[in-house]
Amino acid sequence: MKTIGYAAQTAQSRLTPLSFERRALRDNDVAIEILYCGVCHSDLHMARNDWNASTYPVVPGHEIVGKVTAIGAEVSQYQVGDHVAVGCMVDSCQDCDSCYNGEEQYCRNGFTLTYGSPDRIDGSITHGGYSKHIVVREEFVLKVPETLDLARAAPLLCAGITTYSPLRHWGVGPGSRVGVIGMGGLGHMAVKLAVALGAHVTVISTSASKQADAMSLGADAFLVSKDAQAMTEAQSSFDLIIDTVPVKHDLTPYVPLLDLDASLVLVGQLGPVDGTDTSPLVFGRRHISGSLIGGIAETQEMLDFCARMNVLPECEMIRMDQINEAFARMERSDVRYRFVIDMASLQASQ
Ligand SMILES: [Zn+2]
Ligand SMILES: [Zn+2]
Repeated sequence: MKTIGYAAQTAQSRLTPLSFERRALRDNDVAIEILYCGVCHSDLHMARNDWNASTYPVVPGHEIVGKVTAIGAEVSQYQVGDHVAVGCMVDSCQDCDSCYNGEEQYCRNGFTLTYGSPDRIDGSITHGGYSKHIVVREEFVLKVPETLDLARAAPLLCAGITTYSPLRHWGVGPGSRVGVIGMGGLGHMAVKLAVALGAHVTVISTSASKQADAMSLGADAFLVSKDAQAMTEAQSSFDLIIDTVPVKHDLTPYVPLLDLDASLVLVGQLGPVDGTDTSPLVFGRRHISGSLIGGIAETQEMLDFCARMNVLPECEMIRMDQINEAFARMERSDVRYRFVIDMASLQASQ
């Protein structure tokens, strides 16, 4: 199947239109016309080869919402016309303990990324959601609940599940004291989801400039990390802190905020962190941890939860041909809080 998308041809190039083929349907494949695709910070990193893992051309995009246009002979869960979604994974081994446990993101044999990974059967490099169509095996396709706003649902597939999974894993519920560091695409979802789960949510930020925004998203409190007295008063007062900051930063000020046995969970930044004092870890049996997206079953649970609780990302809709400008703005943190590409604009602009 011929389709069109936007691709980076090199680490230095802007994204430009690219015509390419989607594979013919395998028996367990679902063909999807993409309606909306969110713009994740990792799309920018992959387009520019920031992680030295990119194979060009790169067609980014792993927050995909669309409509089923065809199904393979053995597909049983989906029909033509269904509204569906695809996140960061399109395949895994399906035969290891992690996969059996519904944690395909920790597949012992490595999961297949929605873009930039070799396909497990034919070895071709996967292309993501900055395109008109995608073909994905049934097991990695999600149902979009009828009551969920299609245009705003896309960012749930990465930003949503990346924050929902640790909230669930660490048992957040009514009365939990949750801190959120960083209030971008991930952080604003962490706030909304934790509030919807019944937690008491505090946004922790270097300055007070985001306080009004935090409160409007539903946060209960705001803590300025540069305010030494406020930080001292907040010691040992959190059950869980979700750290969504996407760049290298110092964890030292945040660890003492954790209560006994509580965890600081990193979901944004990959790589070394600046020197961390182990004393508060030892003296308070505190934990520093990490968490990667979420499994397929958990992603479906998250979509259903968001539909039920009416939790939706704050989105700024863009046309496909505005993607380079969107990348530039994202680098300046000039987005509230997620760009979403209206894929109808791709056809219109060609
Ligand atoms: Zn992402
Ligand atoms: Zn596996």
